[in-house]
Amino acid sequence: MTSIAPGALPRVTYSNTGEDFSGVHAHLDAVIPDVRSRLLGLDRPNRIGGADSRDGDAFDAPCPIDRRVSLGRFVAASPAAVDAAVSAARRAADDWRRLGWERRVALARKVADAMEAVKFEMAAACLLEVGKSRMEALGEVEEAVDLVRFYAGEMEANGGYEKPLLRANPKEETRDVLRPFGVFAVIAPFNFPVALSIGMSISALIAGNAVVFKPSPMAGLTGRMLMDCVMAAGLPDGVFNLVCGGAETGAALVGHSGVDGIAFTGSHAVGMAIMRGFGVGGRHAKPVLAEMGGKNPTYVTASADLATAAAGMARSAFGLQGQKCSAGSVVFVHDAVRDEFLERLAATATSFRIGDPAGRDVFMGPVINRAARDRFEAAVAAASAAGSSIIGGRVLSGGLRDHGDYVEPTIVTGLPDDHALHRDELFLPFLTVRTFSALDDAIRRGNAVPYGLTAGIYAQDEVELDLFLDTAEAGVLYANRASGATTGAWPGIQTFCGWKGSGTGSKGGLGTWYLPQFMREQSRTIMR
Ligand code: NAD
Repeated sequence: MTSIAPGALPRVTYSNTGEDFSGVHAHLDAVIPDVRSRLLGLDRPNRIGGADSRDGDAFDAPCPIDRRVSLGRFVAASPAAVDAAVSAARRAADDWRRLGWERRVALARKVADAMEAVKFEMAAACLLEVGKSRMEALGEVEEAVDLVRFYAGEMEANGGYEKPLLRANPKEETRDVLRPFGVFAVIAPFNFPVALSIGMSISALIAGNAVVFKPSPMAGLTGRMLMDCVMAAGLPDGVFNLVCGGAETGAALVGHSGVDGIAFTGSHAVGMAIMRGFGVGGRHAKPVLAEMGGKNPTYVTASADLATAAAGMARSAFGLQGQKCSAGSVVFVHDAVRDEFLERLAATATSFRIGDPAGRDVFMGPVINRAARDRFEAAVAAASAAGSSIIGGRVLSGGLRDHGDYVEPTIVTGLPDDHALHRDELFLPFLTVRTFSALDDAIRRGNAVPYGLTAGIYAQDEVELDLFLDTAEAGVLYANRASGATTGAWPGIQTFCGWKGSGTGSKGGLGTWYLPQFMREQSRTIMR
């Protein structure tokens, strides 16, 4: 245990490289085993209308680091439980809206405080739940706290989104107000279970909606911890409800007529199905704020600093085992620097330690489950069948590795340009390499995918940078970052908007335009 008070330890973000976190590590050395022994394997009921609920089939969620360990016993909410949760939210929604934005903002800030008070425990839970490294897990919880505070600040800075309008005559009083929809369902993915779950939920809540929250079935542990933080903050019963479970529970929620809007983050297939059904399949359109997958290109030009490019590319492709929507999964390298860049990239990738992410210097833990490992093996086999050359590519075994799905960071060169591995999201530590002689042509090829989430470039030449900024089709662009070619967005600093198949809206999270999407506009004219 460190002698520095935990609250005084330096903050971890996704962009930290080279700082001294020895105090943080010393504290985590004590917290991780404590969370392992105290918080795993427990019964974790859902929470509906202010009461625990066990209505539904119980299921155990395995720890991906060691599948013999149970994260806890959760309940896949039955259709009746989903109905009860939506009904509880409906009953609570009017009072919550009438409470006023100032009091909702104050309560949201208490949620942030409650999360901050348990941030190391929550990070340890996230590490055990997803198999994240220490820095990734702690960074995520810090991001989550910042998200809550950022959105609270946005509501305040905009005065609750109530503005006077012009008047056609002096007897007319006119106002524009943004009002909540009523009940929002929040459906979250496994890979950022804390930040994305609370980011979507708190936005809906601050805007004045009641929420039914369904975490990933792999992430009920942090899901319930977030529920406990909301309860500790003193939000009224029924305003925030937790229903665990997988696709079936999600489908019951999406199919419920009492839900007015959905905030979803996850795969393109599920998000688009929700859009087609819930969004436009009913009597009237309903909001679906869906943040989805990515196939994020990076360009390394002949003017690039290759040391920075190799470091940033490796972190972006292999951090969190490539299981980030923003992961760099395809790199375009100029012919003139291809060999040197690849040599540096391979050296960095093979230097990463893979294993139990509870260890201080482990960069890569396991992939989330057997299905991800099967996908990895299929991708390696497809690359091999196409005659490409593969660095890495093995599933690891022995010791703990026999009880989780640990795979090598993998770099594939020489695939045909139209190969599906260049186009489809794999969500794995799997990077394909393509070459170019003209940057405009490379960007055209990088854009020719159904996604448009993030893109990166390494170039010192201003003309190349301008071309990239002008023509890359993605909502999040980065240049020359050693901390991550395409990854590492932070609330209020990098807004996060998925273009094309990466999102259903034209405004993303982490930024100033996110919150208004949880409200609908009403103009009010009163004659005096
Ligand atoms: P997923 O689509 O499998 O699941 C996401 C959520 O949807 C889970 O809670 C799941 O239980 C639920 N779900 C599944 N089927 C459903 C259905 N038929 N109806 C309603 N809900 C259903 O995604 P995942 O594997 O958990 O997460 C990985 C995906 O998320 C990747 O594609 C990644 O790119 C994407 N992602 C995107 C962002 C972003 O901001 N754009 C961020 C993180 C992850």
